[in-house]
Amino acid sequence: MASSRTAKSKLASRIRQILAREVAAQPAGENEDPIEHLILAVLEGCDTPTSKANEAIAAARRNFVDWNEVRVSSVGEIADCLTCLGDMARQKAASLKSLLNGVCESKRGISLNFLRELTVSQAQAYLASLPGTDERAVGAVLLTCMNSPNLPLDDAGALLCQRLGLLDAGRVTQKSKRELEGIIGKDGLLLFHRFMAEHARNHCAGDIPNCPACIARAECRFALEEYAKAARKPKAAAQRPAAPATPAKKADAPKKGKAKAVVAKPSGKKPTTPLKKKPAAGKRAPKKAT
Ligand code: SF4
Repeated sequence: MASSRTAKSKLASRIRQILAREVAAQPAGENEDPIEHLILAVLEGCDTPTSKANEAIAAARRNFVDWNEVRVSSVGEIADCLTCLGDMARQKAASLKSLLNGVCESKRGISLNFLRELTVSQAQAYLASLPGTDERAVGAVLLTCMNSPNLPLDDAGALLCQRLGLLDAGRVTQKSKRELEGIIGKDGLLLFHRFMAEHARNHCAGDIPNCPACIARAECRFALEEYAKAARKPKAAAQRPAAPATPAKKADAPKKGKAKAVVAKPSGKKPTTPLKKKPAAGKRAPKKAT
């Protein structure tokens, strides 16, 4: 058990070195409003990697004056500018609108700067009470903005960690999640979170992950096992004794007295931070907060 944990810690440390080179993961600056991180966390999800969520945020910035204008717009209007999210655009637009309404109703303004004055558990309770948030989104804001030592982990992230060899197969429990956080170490949590938010959705989902495109492939247990299997295949084929030549069968000579004519039947089947963008001239004026 101890040796397994030690091996996992060493593996996590090697992966962390790769991530430190490849993944941009700065904690939120003091002047950054946590609302931006919450919006990113809500737009990300099982089927939406960070890059797509950032694209959607950039599109919202181009098309709306600020988050309050997003809030008072219709779901259809918001969805129209989130087309980069494909089939998820309308669902994410609805989530975003209700999230912004929830923030506005509870705090009379669209800002979460006050979170930094709360304890982590107070902030967690507030974020969890907002519509459209889930455990992963809440965890992402707490980690990014409050340096909380918790790794946001959903099914996609858990699968990636299991394939890496950092998490045992099977259902993730609070105990196994705590162990994973200990193995990664507090200083590596944000790096791993950013890595999972992008790679778990883009490359590591489904039965056949896209390992050649993954930055962690050199240390990933699953990828290394797959490479090893692929390397063994041609060798095994070369060592396999040649199959004895089978004598050619006599051409379908019917047995005496048992011959039946086989007539092919027709099958019957046919072949088969405040966002400030000045409205362009002629653009509608921003709606007032209600
Ligand atoms: S190398 Fe492959 S299996 Fe491993 S984490 Fe990356 S995508 Fe997933």
